[in-house]
Amino acid sequence: MSPHVAVIGGGWAGLACAVELARANVQVTVFESAGTLGGRARAIEKDGWRVDNGQHILIGAYTETLRMLRLLGVSPKRLYTRPFFVHIPGVLDLQAAELPAPFHLAVGLLRAKGLNWADRRAALRLLRTLKRTKFRLAQDITVRKLLTQTRQTAKLCELLWEPLCVAALNTPAERASAQVFANVLRDSVAASASASEVLIPRTDLTELLPVPAVLYLSRKGQSVHTMTRIRNVTRDEHGFRLEGDPFDAAYTHVVLATGPWQVADITASFSEMERLRSQLSDMRHEAITTAYLAYDPPLTLPKPMIGLTDGLLQWVFDRGQLGGPAGLLAGVVSAASTNLSREEIALRAHQEIEKRFATDSKHLPAPKWAQVITEKRATFACEPGAFRPITVTPVKNLYLAGDYVASDYPATLESAVRSGLTAARTIFRAIGVATPNLFSID
Ligand SMILES: Cc1cc2nc3c(=O)[nH]c(=O)nc-3n(C[C@H](O)[C@H](O)[C@H](O)COP(=O)(O)OP(=O)(O)OC[C@H]3O[C@@H](n4cnc5c(N)ncnc54)[C@H](O)[C@@H]3O)c2cc1C
Repeated sequence: MSPHVAVIGGGWAGLACAVELARANVQVTVFESAGTLGGRARAIEKDGWRVDNGQHILIGAYTETLRMLRLLGVSPKRLYTRPFFVHIPGVLDLQAAELPAPFHLAVGLLRAKGLNWADRRAALRLLRTLKRTKFRLAQDITVRKLLTQTRQTAKLCELLWEPLCVAALNTPAERASAQVFANVLRDSVAASASASEVLIPRTDLTELLPVPAVLYLSRKGQSVHTMTRIRNVTRDEHGFRLEGDPFDAAYTHVVLATGPWQVADITASFSEMERLRSQLSDMRHEAITTAYLAYDPPLTLPKPMIGLTDGLLQWVFDRGQLGGPAGLLAGVVSAASTNLSREEIALRAHQEIEKRFATDSKHLPAPKWAQVITEKRATFACEPGAFRPITVTPVKNLYLAGDYVASDYPATLESAVRSGLTAARTIFRAIGVATPNLFSID
């Protein structure tokens, strides 16, 4: 039987896997339970507005995601790209200089408004300490402990390291893995000016990668089925069967590209998976809330992405400056464990935006539209010792892909894409097919 791979899950991991398989002309079929592709990074429609399920940012270090976008012919203009910056109005203005590493950051810190010499020295101390051990910690500890051990100032922790930790790992410094944080610093701010660039989608997330991926797959004669939930995977003498597959086909290989909490249900028929199932079900997760507020007349922020302190919102994005409708703002609360209702979050977000951005003594009119989206399992909790499985499972020819699969990175678009590529390449090895040229696509 010639290889035919079923990919269950049309998020960024599943689609990256399918594209890579298709590039090598391996037959692949993708099944996605939702009506829209993209999983935890997808567009949603509400009241005539098209927004994302959550505001996302990418960084220059997302090499595999950026390569995949290039392969799929996505214009770089679809990403707003700037040298690394953190802008907290009236508090901190830090921007990497357009210079080769390490001067981009050193000069950026030197010029930063809002930091004193003790802060600058402390920041360089942390990076030097990590560099000395090639960014490998003898033993994983929490980010908080790392900050204490390297004598970071209170201001630097509050304005730079803690926000970066939550933004990258979606886990507060008190619980976050210092090793994963060090990996992110190694490959971004400590690597090169381009690796530390901030990239913000100027289009919705489904348009960014999933749509070009599906266009490519269909050009290659491969199929993608949305609104098709796979309920169970079994195996008979012909290969794998998927309960819920409208074609009742037999597959030689299956890639489970769902969230980790969704693996247990569909693999219940494999007793070999029992231990893995319980390890995946025990994984802890962190939420992210995004509050969209649309202002009329449009409110324009001083920069497309602004950091906030002392409130609920950690970052506010001006979607009007990012290819979206003028006046649409997205406020982000990462690692959010709040008991507030959606209405209360919208109100708090409006009040915080009014306090920071309304011009002198003016009240902001109430937003003409507001939508609060909380993804309860946005990412796994990136803590020291957190369980992360490998691609291969105890069932032959059944693989895992997803942002939670073992890698250097926290749960991100990049770890999702990388896991999909790894699953595809593991299949190439199993069936004796060469990995296609990294930079060409037919
Ligand atoms: C609000 C929010 C903000 C984020 N911000 C950032 C950010 O700024 N930068 C960043 O890099 N990352 C960010 N992330 C993380 C990033 O979105 C995820 O790491 C990534 O999207 C995970 O992709 P995935 O393919 O591994 O999993 P998923 O996206 O979860 O894909 C799994 C897919 O499988 C489908 N599925 C599940 N079960 C079945 C079944 N039985 N049959 C068929 N289909 C099934 C699901 O519907 C889903 O589409 C954020 C996440 C959220 C939620």
